[in-house]
Amino acid sequence: MKVYNTLTRQKEEFVPIEEGKVKMYVCGPTVYDFIHIGNARPYVVFDTVRRYLEYKGYEVTYVQNFTDVDDKIINRANKENKTMQEVSSRFIQEAFHDADGLNVKRATMHPRVTDEMDLIIQMVKDLVDKGFAYEDKGTIYFDTKRFPEYGKLSRKNLEDLITGGSERVSIDEAKKNPTDFVLWKPKKEGEPSWQSPWGEGRPGWHIECSVMAKHHLGESIDIHAGGEDLVFPHHENEIAQSEACNGAQFAKYWLHNGFITVDNEKMSKSLGNFFTVRDIAAQFPYEVIRFFILNGHYRSPINFSRDLMQACQNGLERIKNARKELDFYIQNAVNDKMTDEEKTQAVELLKYKEQFEAVMDDDFNTADAISVIYELVRFSNIAVKAGVSKEYAVEIRDMLSHLCGVLGIAEVSEDAISDEETEKIEALIAKRTEAKKAKDFAGADAIRDELAAMGITIKDTRQGVQWFRG
Ligand code: AMP
Ligand code: ZN
Repeated sequence: MKVYNTLTRQKEEFVPIEEGKVKMYVCGPTVYDFIHIGNARPYVVFDTVRRYLEYKGYEVTYVQNFTDVDDKIINRANKENKTMQEVSSRFIQEAFHDADGLNVKRATMHPRVTDEMDLIIQMVKDLVDKGFAYEDKGTIYFDTKRFPEYGKLSRKNLEDLITGGSERVSIDEAKKNPTDFVLWKPKKEGEPSWQSPWGEGRPGWHIECSVMAKHHLGESIDIHAGGEDLVFPHHENEIAQSEACNGAQFAKYWLHNGFITVDNEKMSKSLGNFFTVRDIAAQFPYEVIRFFILNGHYRSPINFSRDLMQACQNGLERIKNARKELDFYIQNAVNDKMTDEEKTQAVELLKYKEQFEAVMDDDFNTADAISVIYELVRFSNIAVKAGVSKEYAVEIRDMLSHLCGVLGIAEVSEDAISDEETEKIEALIAKRTEAKKAKDFAGADAIRDELAAMGITIKDTRQGVQWFRG
């Protein structure tokens, strides 16, 4: 299996540190508002990476943090006359609500900065003791000149940053070098703070991930991931902190998702060009949002538009309909057993699985994986039309649900309809069939409408009336 490593700028064979196990850390959101669809991308993409690694037999420990100490949370709390804790707790719940809707599996751990404060202070202290950090009036800075490999991830040259300047390197008189960054800052009036050897204060942003990764996964991890905007300075700084403190390589593979853009500009809160997942979910089902994200390769940009969402909804429906039609066909198939010819064809089904795995093994190409699923859908539709045996249809259905399951898409809920409801639906369908026989078309249409009001769609097929929710 090959993965693109931002650290080396090439696809590399994936070999975890410990055989059969993967330790994975993904930077999570700052919880001051609902997540937008750009924030949802790393959620869905790295959930899929995790699912695929599990599918390949790895035992994955997946850590995703919540940043629950931050200026933006404090500002919102002050505006709403709430505590920082009240604001962050609310938006952690909201983030879980969206993640559940997007079929993102819960991480093994979801640590929060406020629960890790002692360890954060300890790591800052270690960095000071080892000579990698210095103090100026209660602020602790990381001394980037003391870490010669600084810049190795983003490939930024320290000298360029100093002379050219960058919007992401803040100018601060107290810093020894422009790339130095804050590990700890002194308390400001009216802001939450914690006691430390340098007085009351709170941590800078980057230190939390170095601490949480070490605490929950150890000094060296296999995969560290996030959006590409985090490469510099966040991930660069995480490497500096962790490697300076621990004297070991921090992460073996660095994976970064591309942006979701609007009119080819990054979607972001600060530009105001964002759509929250919650708002989009009011117009399209959550599963369409997941499908939309997986339709592109995770490193390519995706330009968000209603038209593209609509096209994705249609595509997903095509896959789900094929699954429902197979289910219906299996219930009503005339021939049980596979013919000899079908037995030969059934072996060919494996080629879809092989193709699927080949593209996923090539840096998680979910876009091509979905194309393979579409091909299988076409194959399935032809088989159903040709009137294959039940046994063969079951094989096709199992392959389709197997591949969809790996991506967490097109799940058809079988448990949603109770026996009682099924009886009622089937009674109505029988009544409609009677009405049609009696040429009472208005009566038949009225029953169709009644079923539609119950959320049930019906379809007249050669095998009889097919029905499903949706
Ligand atoms: P934030 O809360 O801004 O730190 O973002 C949380 C995660 O979403 C990070 O991994 C970001 O890189 C990612 N992210 C933010 N905006 C976008 C975007 N427009 N497209 C893709 N990923 C994004
Ligand atoms: Zn991080």
